[in-house]
Amino acid sequence: MNASAAKVVIISGPSGAGKSTVVARLLAVCPVPLRLSVSATTRAPRPGERDGVHYYFVARDEFQRRRQRGEFLECKEVFGCGDWYGTLRSEVATGQTEGKWVLLEIDVEGAMSVLEEIPDAVTIFLHPGSLEELAQRLTRRGTESSQSLARRLDVARTEMECARAYQYEVINDTVDRAVQEICGILQRCGE
Ligand code: 5GP
Repeated sequence: MNASAAKVVIISGPSGAGKSTVVARLLAVCPVPLRLSVSATTRAPRPGERDGVHYYFVARDEFQRRRQRGEFLECKEVFGCGDWYGTLRSEVATGQTEGKWVLLEIDVEGAMSVLEEIPDAVTIFLHPGSLEELAQRLTRRGTESSQSLARRLDVARTEMECARAYQYEVINDTVDRAVQEICGILQRCGE
């Protein structure tokens, strides 16, 4: 695979579809040299989440200052509850300088904005097995209030309707299988 084949890869899917698990495995096993773009967010860290690893956790005013300075490739308020998420241009640039494929784990609207600037980005939508499974997974995770859970399920329904706008749709029935499928997709894109 030649370095100039390096691409931006976007993975979207409803909250609770298992994206983070799949992404962590991909980073560990994918033969394509991947670098995860760490997004900035104004939401509070969950237990175990570390600044600069899972997200850059920033205050709302700091986020807006960075937005005004044009530091984001895209950014938006994701669940209509005042919390912002954004892809930093610096994260993408660093990966590209290193000759890596830059992996963005972002929502559907964010993905569409990135495509306007980077039309050859590879887009992958990760489906949960079903909406029921998604609800079970989010409930088991225990990180959301009942209000936040309901909002995430609403957004999930809407997002799943947008899946067809993606080049590839992958079902996260088991993590191993989904990861293998994505590795295959990326290898083919690099040929
Ligand atoms: P969570 O709060 O569960 O970590 O993430 C919530 C949602 O925000 C997920 O659907 C995730 O893909 C999305 N997200 C995370 N980072 C970004 C980002 O930088 N930009 C956009 N547009 N969405 C993001």
